[in-house]
Amino acid sequence: MLETYGIAVPQASTAETPSEAAEAVATLDGQAVIKAQVLTGGRGKAGGVRVVDSVEQAKEAAAEILAMRIKGMAVKCVMIAKRLDIRAEYYAGITIDRRAKSVILILSTAGGMDIEETASQEPQKIRRFVMAGPAVPHRTLSEWLSPIFADEAILNQATRTVKNLYRLFREKDCSLVEINPLVVTAQGQLIGADAKIVFDDSGIPRHPDIARLRNPEEYTTEELQAKEAGLSFVSLDGEIGCMVNGAGLAMATMDGIKLAGGTVANFLDVGGSSDPQKVINAMRILLRNEKLKVILVNIFGGITRCDDIAKGILTAQEQLDIKAPLVIRLIGTNEQEGLDMLRKAGMVVTRNMTEAIRNAVECARGGARS
Ligand code: GDP
Ligand code: MG
Repeated sequence: MLETYGIAVPQASTAETPSEAAEAVATLDGQAVIKAQVLTGGRGKAGGVRVVDSVEQAKEAAAEILAMRIKGMAVKCVMIAKRLDIRAEYYAGITIDRRAKSVILILSTAGGMDIEETASQEPQKIRRFVMAGPAVPHRTLSEWLSPIFADEAILNQATRTVKNLYRLFREKDCSLVEINPLVVTAQGQLIGADAKIVFDDSGIPRHPDIARLRNPEEYTTEELQAKEAGLSFVSLDGEIGCMVNGAGLAMATMDGIKLAGGTVANFLDVGGSSDPQKVINAMRILLRNEKLKVILVNIFGGITRCDDIAKGILTAQEQLDIKAPLVIRLIGTNEQEGLDMLRKAGMVVTRNMTEAIRNAVECARGGARS
């Protein structure tokens, strides 16, 4: 994609076996870099990027990398890239800055490092510029870049690279494009040696070429199941599972949990319909999470009827092995019927959201069961 946008990248191909990798490296005179093709950064640190200078070395390195797991992902494929003779590594990224209410360009001389790490440890090495409007004049870009790239020929290449990166960012509806490292080679060329692009899901229908790139490994099993069940679900890494109706209330619930000192296991909007089966499906997905300590059900019944939710919860309890305590907040349409059903079954239910959140956080800490 970078190449299509006129950004220089190393000549590269992919391989799924050590011998395929060796063949590819032979065409590069043995001078190559073998990189794990997994959807995460930090491959270098994990040992998933190896510089080689012979076909034998390449075969060995490819075999080792193909046997690795990086951040939980099996490496099924490696990239074989022509080896660059690197003089300096930079970072160039374009993303959205909510505080600036704008797209921003981020530049750093600490290339190769995670930008998050640089930001916390050496913030003086990062520069940010607000990209106002669909095109930033070449002169302006060049001025921004000049303190970083002293050499004029490199500065010219850098300016063109950033301009093209911005065009890619806008045209493909990205929320992030970053090149890390953006390298200067011994031959005086500026080349994007590694990149990460995040596409905005809402923009995908406009880009069949990007839709084709979709990879099931981008999603957790829970997320895939939720998608199938018509639920809006995002996995997070905390302890309190959330089942909420409505995206706004779900966001507010997550904020509330954070405020009360808890951690959130997921975002889940069971939607505005009134189908008990949805509750059961949602419960099944939440229960897959090994970190889960408690489930917080927060329902504000409008179109969703509280008695249907109660029915769903009771059926889920019959059908599934729910070991985590349930904290339930129920209010709105058919509230009394719902509360009666749950209380008759011995469940503790509240009408108050703050109270429910506090209970859930306490449960997660190992406090009183609800
Ligand atoms: P990441 O760790 O997942 O971000 O993977 P990268 O593709 O960014 O590679 C990590 C590091 O490996 C880079 O920052 C470089 O220092 C090094 N590296 C990558 N490609 C080359 C290359 O062609 N030549 C040399 N000498 N080093 C490379
Ligand atoms: Mg990188």
